Amino acid sequence: FGTAATAVEEPPIRPDVKIDYNQILINGQFLDSASGKTFPTYDPRTEEVIAHVAEGDAEDIDRAVAAARQAFDNGPWRKMTAYERSRIINQCADIVEKHNDEIAMLETLDNGKTYEQASKIEIPTVVRILRYYAGWPDKIHGLVVPADGPHHVQIMHEAIGVAGQIIPWNFPLLMLAWKVGPALACGNTIVMKTAEQTPLSALYVAKLFHDAGLPPGVLNIVSGFGPTAGAALASHTDVDKVAFTGSTATGKIILELAAKSNLKQVTLELGGKSPFIVCEDADVDEAVELAHFALFFNQGQCCCAGSRTFVHESIYDEFVEKSKARALRRVVGDPFKTGVEQGPQIDDLQFKKILGCIKSGVESGATLETGGGRFGNKGFYVQPTIFSNVKDEMFIAKEEIFGPVQSILKFKDINEVIQRSNASRYGLAAGVFTQNIDTANTLSRSLRVGTVWVNCFDIFDAAIPFGGFKMSGQGREKGIDSLKNYLQVKSVVTSLKNPAW
Ligand code: ADP
Repeated sequence: FGTAATAVEEPPIRPDVKIDYNQILINGQFLDSASGKTFPTYDPRTEEVIAHVAEGDAEDIDRAVAAARQAFDNGPWRKMTAYERSRIINQCADIVEKHNDEIAMLETLDNGKTYEQASKIEIPTVVRILRYYAGWPDKIHGLVVPADGPHHVQIMHEAIGVAGQIIPWNFPLLMLAWKVGPALACGNTIVMKTAEQTPLSALYVAKLFHDAGLPPGVLNIVSGFGPTAGAALASHTDVDKVAFTGSTATGKIILELAAKSNLKQVTLELGGKSPFIVCEDADVDEAVELAHFALFFNQGQCCCAGSRTFVHESIYDEFVEKSKARALRRVVGDPFKTGVEQGPQIDDLQFKKILGCIKSGVESGATLETGGGRFGNKGFYVQPTIFSNVKDEMFIAKEEIFGPVQSILKFKDINEVIQRSNASRYGLAAGVFTQNIDTANTLSRSLRVGTVWVNCFDIFDAAIPFGGFKMSGQGREKGIDSLKNYLQVKSVVTSLKNPAW
């Protein structure tokens, strides 16, 4: 097996990035952690330490929540006009846009995603999301309802209060934007716990937000680990709502911690095992390319990755051959290099987990078409890997791999593929590839998932809600639905002296 790229054999380019911010951000101030502890964050290309970052735990979460509480109860944020809030969020978007390239460098350095993807897709999408939410504050309003009786009834929509937000490492700044955007638009204050693998870009961007006029205490950032800082945030009794993105296993813990502490409201965006269904009428070349993108995008580290490629039996062999050829052409290497499609996985843990999944695929009898091992000898690179003859009951067809491993399954008819697609505890997303409008409609209506992409995949427009059915989550992010996560509904019923006025 081999791939076209040999870039990792060369010394990795040393990007010109300075790490300016590595402390905890509370009340607009960068501080050391209460314990004085730090933890290293690594360059996944070289496995070397980039920086040591202040490690927050329960005490730091306490300090951050106190700052957010104070900013919510007494600070200007909730009390300023909606238009002013909107202007500040727009200024946050502008300043991120201005610093697009250095933010993207930091993201690539800490995460390993390609600089092209970070600079041309992700940071511009962060800006787009912020502008979308900047448009909301002066359009969020309640209702007056015609209830029975001599009563004037107002339904008011108010900010919830202090939002705890816990995000993962696969799209560090996009996940920040998805959560911070609606929370700020609705007038809440925030304590965010970033992922321990990727703490750097959020600190940098949060500093920019303050430069852009965000008042101190409105957005506090604590770097640290899940069972310490994350759990303290999910259990904090002065936090009114927690929003989490990560694994289904951790999502269950978050829900439990929220329930055991103060019944704070919870939204969860969790794992997936999304089907990508290629029907018999599909243009095979186009389908191969899209299925390849659906799985391999972001090194396969997407909760919605099209990780079960179902292909109709009439085109199965051709599809497998062409997918194999495409995977062999995939350019793996230093993510800072132009033209590289795939960088390293996030860390050693994920790298080993993916190699373990590949081993399980081989042992369970799937056919390894290409890839299957480490790429190069330094950094967490994995060869683009394809399995054919994958069966539903195999581990690789049931569990999230979160890596560049495509599993291609065969189906005969549409009812069968609907039933098999839905036979998963997950229900995050699905891809449907067909030229037949009836097939597309039947599949879209039958699949029990939060998003169906028809003849496209991974379209993440700011206005489109995203979230899961079943064990893929609760609630939706992005779009109008995400506002509900950050608003309380208050009914004000006033007795009328003169109902007829
Ligand atoms: P992944 O497998 O993608 O790393 P996790 O669910 O472990 O997914 O992590 C997502 C986020 O949840 C990270 O910020 C992580 O630190 C945090 N986290 C992990 N375990 C816990 C926990 N027990 N309580 C709260 N947060 C946690």
